[in-house]
Amino acid sequence: MKPEILRVTDTITCVRRPSYFTCSYVMRTGDGVVLVDAGMKSDGSDVLFALESLGLAPADVRAILVTHWHNDHAAGAGALAEASGARVACTAPEAPYLRRDTASGGVLGWLSDAVPEVGPFVLAKGLLGGAPMRAVAPTDVVADGDTIFGFRVIATPGHTEGHAAYLHEAEGALFAGDALAMIDGKLRFMARAVTPDLDAARTSMVQLMDRSFDLVCPGHREPGPLDREDAKRFSELLATREWPALG
Ligand SMILES: [Zn+2]
Repeated sequence: MKPEILRVTDTITCVRRPSYFTCSYVMRTGDGVVLVDAGMKSDGSDVLFALESLGLAPADVRAILVTHWHNDHAAGAGALAEASGARVACTAPEAPYLRRDTASGGVLGWLSDAVPEVGPFVLAKGLLGGAPMRAVAPTDVVADGDTIFGFRVIATPGHTEGHAAYLHEAEGALFAGDALAMIDGKLRFMARAVTPDLDAARTSMVQLMDRSFDLVCPGHREPGPLDREDAKRFSELLATREWPALG
């Protein structure tokens, strides 16, 4: 099955899987094509399909910005880095996961191998395995405040220790990863079971929303991607301070 390819703006495309409405993004920037997260397939096929539908080649991709190591966001990073030669960026706490230094041995590793890489199992497969299914060596270990390919790195710990959001300042587009989700028109946190520090996640989300941006591209979004009008609604939603956890 192919992922959904959803237009966000002229320069931003959302690659979405129905499982948890997980979103990765392809952005054409002045510095070339940049991916934020890498789809749910460890062969990279989610994003490769998106690139083809946009008339782009893998070699057009200059950078892969990883928000966090969870397999529903990072599965394709290794294959896509290999296919494109792109740089791969993440924060220091996420790097051992991407390299698979953290991979589970024993029963958990065996269980992870046994779980199929389809639909809602993809996240569980990575969590059991303690790492994304395919290793990738980050070329750029970034930290809060750094700029890479025109994106400002914003540390947003909580959902994972090294979770990062990326703000493309020239376009005013905030790629939030799992620092927030938007489901059924409501702001949500990710589920407690996959968010070790919910208090930190909440603080990160509030601080993230204090940034200046025109557009938010969340890691999970239903219905379709946000457009610039939706971004205005964000401030109203934020003001309610009622943000249930997903699940
Ligand atoms: Zn996640």
